[in-house]
Amino acid sequence: MNNLYNQMIEFAKENIAPYTDSVDKSASFPVDAFEAIKKKKITGLMVPKEYGGMGLGFEEHTQTVLAFASYCATTALCYMMHNVATNCVVTHGSEEMKQKYLPKIANGEIMLALAYSESGTGTHFYNPEIKVTKENDLFVMNGRKSFVTSAEYADLYLVDAANPNSEDLDNWLVPKDAAGVVFQESAWDGLGMRGNASCPMLLENVKLDESYRIGEEKSGLDQIFNTVGPFFIMGLAAVYSGVAVNAANTITEYSMSRKYSDDTSLCNIPTVQNHISDIYTDAASAKHFTLSAARSVTNGDADAQANVLAARLHASKVAVDVCTKAMKIGGGTAYAKRITIERLLRDSLAAQVMAPSTDVITTWLGKALTNQPLM
Ligand SMILES: Cc1cc2nc3c(=O)[nH]c(=O)nc-3n(C[C@H](O)[C@H](O)[C@H](O)COP(=O)(O)OP(=O)(O)OC[C@H]3O[C@@H](n4cnc5c(N)ncnc54)[C@H](O)[C@@H]3O)c2cc1C
Repeated sequence: MNNLYNQMIEFAKENIAPYTDSVDKSASFPVDAFEAIKKKKITGLMVPKEYGGMGLGFEEHTQTVLAFASYCATTALCYMMHNVATNCVVTHGSEEMKQKYLPKIANGEIMLALAYSESGTGTHFYNPEIKVTKENDLFVMNGRKSFVTSAEYADLYLVDAANPNSEDLDNWLVPKDAAGVVFQESAWDGLGMRGNASCPMLLENVKLDESYRIGEEKSGLDQIFNTVGPFFIMGLAAVYSGVAVNAANTITEYSMSRKYSDDTSLCNIPTVQNHISDIYTDAASAKHFTLSAARSVTNGDADAQANVLAARLHASKVAVDVCTKAMKIGGGTAYAKRITIERLLRDSLAAQVMAPSTDVITTWLGKALTNQPLM
């Protein structure tokens, strides 16, 4: 394993793990973990060196998210979305936009979030219904984004919207302090991922000039499928591989520490040994498939797209399976929430509903493997 993954594991152990339980219990955004991420300037992972960032790419994004998720799925998810939005600015933003925001991202001053999903189009976030009209030199946005992870804790939001004059899409960078940006006061009360502070975002006559549009007019769908999508889908594979790794580590340690009256341990029971073996194998398969799928993208392999989709599906299934099996091994102690398997099981269940949902991705993979367009 390379140095960055190991460094991020050490960072997460020290700076993220201490807050994971309280973030889940209080359903509050991981403020302390993000303070550390910003202080260490890991917000700048995707920012090119000439703007003060770390200048890293797809594989390092995957490794870092996986390392963070091995200690806190919520923190990893929020961080993953920040990287996805940042990368869109890096690859498609104007020079003016890059000069304005990238140094601040690199310096840990600001963070980004994704405001894509809408209730009218659900898991198909590439079909936004937000209305954009043109008034003189300004673009006026009206509509509602249904789930925005990191909501009020971010500074800028990647927002997809229909082009005012066509069926095409545009991607916008909307500042939190733009007049008309309002967060709906519905506290996030998710089953898992409880600290991600997701809430609806209203855009009420938000007026932006052209400099806030990312890239050429009408290039939004291309950005979503070729830039945002791969980083996002790979990021979800990394988050849920991390959940599986965390559950495997947690239950293995528990099986050794749980003692019976005759001084034997849970891990001395052959059936438990078999379960531990299966759990390790599954978690390792999710982790290594995710990392190798990321590598295949960097290498430009012909099957890279299929690998990314399959890694996302595999990690999503493995996370739930591993946590379910770990719950069985953990017995009453796990069920009574005295070890963290219960939290990890709740977190793992988000994998299947996060857009594009596993049902949608399964269809996409079938299309990709048979040379059909995804849409
Ligand atoms: C923890 C969490 C964090 C999130 N953070 C963000 C965020 O930061 N930004 C953001 O934009 N969104 C975010 N979302 C939203 C998320 O990505 C999805 O868009 C949203 O959960 C879709 O919910 P829905 O109920 O509207 O889906 P629906 O469209 O109602 O779909 C419900 C289910 O129906 C099935 N389904 C629907 N259409 C199809 C189809 N064509 N083929 C096969 N199956 C189908 C799928 O299994 C899907 O899971 C978040 C969601 C969660 C749970």
